[in-house]
Amino acid sequence: MAHRVVLVPGDGIGPEVATAARRVLDATGVELRWIERPAGATALERAGALLPEETLDAIRECRVALKGPITTPVGTGFRSVNVALRQELDLFAAVRPARSLPGVPTRHEGVDLVVIRENTEDLYQGIEFERGSDAAMALRARLRDLGGFELREDAGVTLKPISASGTHRIVRFAFEYARTNRRRKVTVGHKAPVMRFSDGLFLDTARADARDYPEIAWEEIQVDHLSARLVRRPEDFDVLLLPNLYGDILSDLCAGLVGGLGLIPGANIGWEYAVFEPVHGSAPDIAGRGIADPVAMILSGAMLMRHLGELDAAERVEAAVDAVLRAGSVRTGDVGGTSTTTDMADAIAAAVRSA
Ligand code: ATP
Repeated sequence: MAHRVVLVPGDGIGPEVATAARRVLDATGVELRWIERPAGATALERAGALLPEETLDAIRECRVALKGPITTPVGTGFRSVNVALRQELDLFAAVRPARSLPGVPTRHEGVDLVVIRENTEDLYQGIEFERGSDAAMALRARLRDLGGFELREDAGVTLKPISASGTHRIVRFAFEYARTNRRRKVTVGHKAPVMRFSDGLFLDTARADARDYPEIAWEEIQVDHLSARLVRRPEDFDVLLLPNLYGDILSDLCAGLVGGLGLIPGANIGWEYAVFEPVHGSAPDIAGRGIADPVAMILSGAMLMRHLGELDAAERVEAAVDAVLRAGSVRTGDVGGTSTTTDMADAIAAAVRSA
């Protein structure tokens, strides 16, 4: 039976890398029915909305999407289209694998870790009080009443809510992910001694839930210490489980450990829907020139295949990317070559077919 997959090409280099990924995924022989829908600046121009309802409806219907980068033009009333999409579809888990790729020179070898970041709470939930506003003044008075907390009069405030229910689902997700993908260890990053009621709750909840997965090792590290260990010995880590803010920062750090932005795939996943997308942005500086590296988008496509249960196809795509990078004769400018996006897609598609 054909899988129905929404393709959101997006902005900038998005359409170029989307075409490349589609070509490679079609080469696996898995029957995919692509349903193309717009989002981002391109959608605003063509359909009059940054995140058109027809795009959301298509994802709700098909449950999975492969998405290129989208930009949020300033002054459109949206903080971020990407954030809005995650909220609309309740994509509470961000999954970002960082794996050493052959032929891509980096400081470390043998890195193979996955960052799983909670996507909806924490300092990024968006509960903010502007310095000097009536709301900030009311909060200040209330805090004094509630617990004798003293806020400076000229303080702006961002709240850090972390709930037990929000934590349960990301912990469960991380362990189920580890189990399905034969991962051996989950490491939680936190700052519980300092933030007892937010990070502390996250840690306590995660620690208790971890007992349901005795076959997977459990490790707790304070996030500052974790950062130091990651840059020294990233090969020690497997799955990293992180609240929103630390997850955002450390997933970029991990991307940096294994190469450039053009190589790193990602996914935003909820219980119902999943959107797979490269980590990089729309790269306006190189858009329209046919030179973008399609690997991040292609590897996001491999993650999508795995999510659909097409494990063999996913492995063939990943092996084909490795083979082409290892051979080195076809590669884009960001990894030291002169090939085009299309050359790269053709080479990887050919490697998929011959696998
Ligand atoms: P946005 O605002 O959409 O996030 P940005 O310019 O802040 O865009 P990126 O688009 O990720 O961030 O680009 C950062 C740099 O990395 C740019 O110089 C860009 O050319 C380069 N880059 C990003 N993705 C790729 C890619 N797939 N291939 C080659 N270079 C890339």
